[in-house]
Amino acid sequence: MQYDHILVRYGEIGLKGKNRKIFLNRLHENVLDKLKEFSTISIKTTRDRMYILLNGENPDPIIAICQTIFGIHSLSLAIKVDNDETKIKEATLYALKEATDAKTFKITAKRINKEFPIHSQDMNQILGGYLLSNTDGFTVDVHNPDIEINVETRKEATYITSLKIPCAGGLPVGTAGKTLLLLSGGIDSPVAGYLTMKRGVQLEVIHFHSPPYTSDRAKQKVIDLAHQLTSYGGKIKVHVVPFTKLQQKIYQDIPHGYSMTVMRRMMMKISEAVAFKEGILSLTTGESLGQVASQTMESMNAINQVTNYPILRPLITMDKEEIIQISKKINTYDISIRPFEDCCTIFVPSSPKTKPKKDKVIYFESSLNFNEDLEETINGIEVIEISHSTSHEDEFSDLL
Ligand code: ATP
Ligand code: MG
Repeated sequence: MQYDHILVRYGEIGLKGKNRKIFLNRLHENVLDKLKEFSTISIKTTRDRMYILLNGENPDPIIAICQTIFGIHSLSLAIKVDNDETKIKEATLYALKEATDAKTFKITAKRINKEFPIHSQDMNQILGGYLLSNTDGFTVDVHNPDIEINVETRKEATYITSLKIPCAGGLPVGTAGKTLLLLSGGIDSPVAGYLTMKRGVQLEVIHFHSPPYTSDRAKQKVIDLAHQLTSYGGKIKVHVVPFTKLQQKIYQDIPHGYSMTVMRRMMMKISEAVAFKEGILSLTTGESLGQVASQTMESMNAINQVTNYPILRPLITMDKEEIIQISKKINTYDISIRPFEDCCTIFVPSSPKTKPKKDKVIYFESSLNFNEDLEETINGIEVIEISHSTSHEDEFSDLL
């Protein structure tokens, strides 16, 4: 006997009423896509659970991948047996013996199939007694057991599970539209992308770079970050904006206290144009209130003025330490701290205004004509498609 299934629990999907079918279909597709290398397994999605039939496959790598799929709340290894008392007893005994560190246990039986003749309470006692008389050194603890064995009798079969493994939660990526993430090479914006995907949003990415002031390695860093984010949500299109000319013009012709505000406004305008062209309905940034000069209330107000698009800022109230913790968990931290500077770091003046005045920004901008530069910049955008199955070597060769 062995664990032959993974039982997947959905969590929040259950609240989605009529849309439930759409959510479940999307989750099913996402799971199929992520697990496509495991050709022997099969996946069955039902209203309240998903079952992954292992067919002899090692469950560990499959569990690790499932933990990165949004929409999955938790999972458990399961043994599926017929609705037969002897078989249920054997499977329960196996589950207990597998829990090598446990000394105390509890059985929780659930009779979803009301035609099954043994009531849940009786089943708890029958199985508890059977386990005690067929093992050494175990005792029952109904309040704080080392292992809880769940026995769920459904119409088609009984599933025996023990350990509940927490997963990423959230909603399946692709059920909440698309956003355009402004991805720098820093710590914050990849975390913002991850959190947006967690709510079911698919990502496209825009990155502003300024060669030769920013190196190819800074660009590669962003591609690597996007690649890491694909492990949570399939393909990501990266729009790389050639920003040098516009940045130089801003740096030369706008008073330094205001150059950062104008630069950010240009970034927003370009991002909105790309989003519009791609049919994307929102922008996302890694801004966090008060972190730097561009993230004060006054700055955000002045920068936001150039777009009517909703700007999602998932990190807005987070402390840096909380953001760093998430970036470590999602494996973007080590990429983010590679020491290649992005365009904003290089062109940022020593003392940007933290409380820019909107009328002054507009006055400075109107003295220069940015429209042609904006158009030229947008026309020069390079698009790179990244998928989670693409190896880094493939991406490099695409770029050569
Ligand atoms: P991050 O760690 O994400 O770089 P930050 O704290 O360094 O953020 P800023 O440099 O002020 O903050 O950037 C604020 C946000 O603007 C970033 O989170 C990102 O969304 C966007 N951004 C900044 N620079 C770039 C860039 N070169 N390309 C694309 N987006 C950028
Ligand atoms: Mg930055």
